[in-house]
Amino acid sequence: MKTPLARRWRVESDTDLGADSRRFWLANCFLIIVALTSLAYALINFFYFKAIPLAVVELGFFVIVVLALADMRINRNIERSAWVTVLSCGVLSAFFFWYVQAGVSAAVWTVFFAIVNFFLLGTRKGLPVYLVFFAVILSLTLSYRNDWPALSGAALTNIIGAMMAFGAAAYYQERSREAAHDRIETLANQDSLTGISNRRHFLQRFERVRQALCDLDRPYALVLIDIDNFKAINDAHGHAVGDQVIIAVTQRLLSAVRAQDLVARLGGEEFCVLLYDCGDSAAWRRAEKLRLAVGAEPVSVESQRVHVTISAGVAVGDPQSQGFNEMFADADRHLYAAKAKGRDQVVDQL
Ligand code: GH3
Ligand code: MG
Ligand code: MG
Repeated sequence: MKTPLARRWRVESDTDLGADSRRFWLANCFLIIVALTSLAYALINFFYFKAIPLAVVELGFFVIVVLALADMRINRNIERSAWVTVLSCGVLSAFFFWYVQAGVSAAVWTVFFAIVNFFLLGTRKGLPVYLVFFAVILSLTLSYRNDWPALSGAALTNIIGAMMAFGAAAYYQERSREAAHDRIETLANQDSLTGISNRRHFLQRFERVRQALCDLDRPYALVLIDIDNFKAINDAHGHAVGDQVIIAVTQRLLSAVRAQDLVARLGGEEFCVLLYDCGDSAAWRRAEKLRLAVGAEPVSVESQRVHVTISAGVAVGDPQSQGFNEMFADADRHLYAAKAKGRDQVVDQL
């Protein structure tokens, strides 16, 4: 059962690992489209316009893109295939511009190059490449005309088309980059079994909370939790059931903390809870509430009922003078004492 609290303190649980394969799939589709488009142009130029040199260059581009596609599929190196395709498309576009002597129809390739460039390289790398390309096209234009070409309706349409293609490709690229970044961030912060924060993420958030409490001049508490006799649970019911018990304990801890408290799995069957703005007696009461929540009733897994208890060590501190290490050392000593006293209890002082 997921409570609103559980949702609040979960790291975004998008565990979709398919970002890379999605990027690969998109690049794959895109290269196929580019290859087919250049083949179509080659055929049209060969049979309809009888522009043989152009058709040959386009056919050459088609072969290069097919090779880049094959290389990408074999070696899964998207970057290399992207560069090969972009550079040969640039050469092809410049060749076309030169071939039609900077005619207005050549702007079609400018649009095409903009899409290829920004889709495959992204905004950051794509922009300088596109600027170089633009300089080449401009110098070609000037070498064929002594004056600036008149801006015809067709040219204007092409320029607007290129701009829109640029915008759409750049926007898409940025969005995918952000999504990939978010996913990496989530995976780096999340405990893979329970979906809650891992130690790394907990430490980051701990520092932020500590800072806030320093400003407010309020105390905080750290509760270190370890499931009792967990080895025996694993031995008696199997590792898979053990995992389900860890998940169930996580849910019970999440449902027993307040919205402002932080819960993390440090590893194995050990958890850590940061109690926000919490002094001595309140900290013990809250930790005790956690202990009771976990042990309230057996965990049901695969028609087995597993009795689970936890031991907890509590450290209360002043955020100004006691950071994570001091708090953790205190809580760890108290947890050790709770185990030594017979488990299933909370210790907050020795
Ligand atoms: P104690 O009451 O003293 O804590 O006894 P314990 O048996 O819980 O002892 P300890 O904390 O040393 O044992 C932890 C065990 O948890 C050892 C390891 O096999 C098991 N374990 C660690 N991580 C996982 C996990 O992700 N899944 C499962 N199923 N077991 C785990
Ligand atoms: Mg342990
Ligand atoms: Mg244990």
